[in-house]
Amino acid sequence: MNETNSNSTAPHVTSSKQPLIQLSHVSKSYQDADRKQVIFNDLNETIHSGEFIVLMGRSGSGKSTLLNLISGIDLPDSGSVFIESNNFSQLTEEDRTIFRRHHIGFVFQAFNLIPTLTVEENLLLPLELIGDLTPGDYKNAEELLDWLGLADRTESYPDQLSGGEQQRIAVARAIIHNPMIILADEPTGNLDLETGKEVIGLLDQLVRETHKTLVMVTHSREVIGIADRVLEMHDGMLTPAQ
Ligand code: ADP
Ligand code: MG
Repeated sequence: MNETNSNSTAPHVTSSKQPLIQLSHVSKSYQDADRKQVIFNDLNETIHSGEFIVLMGRSGSGKSTLLNLISGIDLPDSGSVFIESNNFSQLTEEDRTIFRRHHIGFVFQAFNLIPTLTVEENLLLPLELIGDLTPGDYKNAEELLDWLGLADRTESYPDQLSGGEQQRIAVARAIIHNPMIILADEPTGNLDLETGKEVIGLLDQLVRETHKTLVMVTHSREVIGIADRVLEMHDGMLTPAQ
């Protein structure tokens, strides 16, 4: 894994225990044909580098919308989202995409591996997307797969793997390009309880060892004990969960 991406045009992000993600007076609504749905109205929150944040809240409360704002996939209607000093609202869509590819890793509920790529190709895809795939990365990928207990699945395709195996690959894929931030949206939602616990344990271990910042949406109360902070989304507000 590379620390720097010298051929990148992405703004530089440094690693230290300081505010990393800042939501400042964020408002966001969705306009349907006949009504406007307010998701956030003046939301403020700071997430520090190295934090493991769990985000809970009822379905439809705006958790995925918040992750989309943190990744710059979506922009607030007003207010700002900063990753360190980078304000997404001041970047072009192309620069936000470049920023995201370099600095953010994703884990989804539905695994989202590419069905036509092998396990190893899926794992290396984030490096390929930023044009930073080197011969040494294949060795790193194989070591990572070995560590995951999936060394013999390198040439398999996703549909030949169990859900738990696919999600372990997806977790490794989220981290292979050495991003600052991992966003996980209900990563255990399609897994049984035991397999889900394994995947969360893996995420926790990888994120802690590599000093990443993790924001994970989950309904699993099992994670409360291992997170640094548990936030509850309700009526567009974030509050410490009880
Ligand atoms: P959660 O992830 O907490 O279940 P979401 O952030 O996905 O909630 O959605 C919050 C609300 O915003 C929901 O009522 C949803 O229907 C609505 N919503 C989400 N995305 C869009 C969109 N692109 N257009 C219109 N409404 C949306
Ligand atoms: Mg959601």
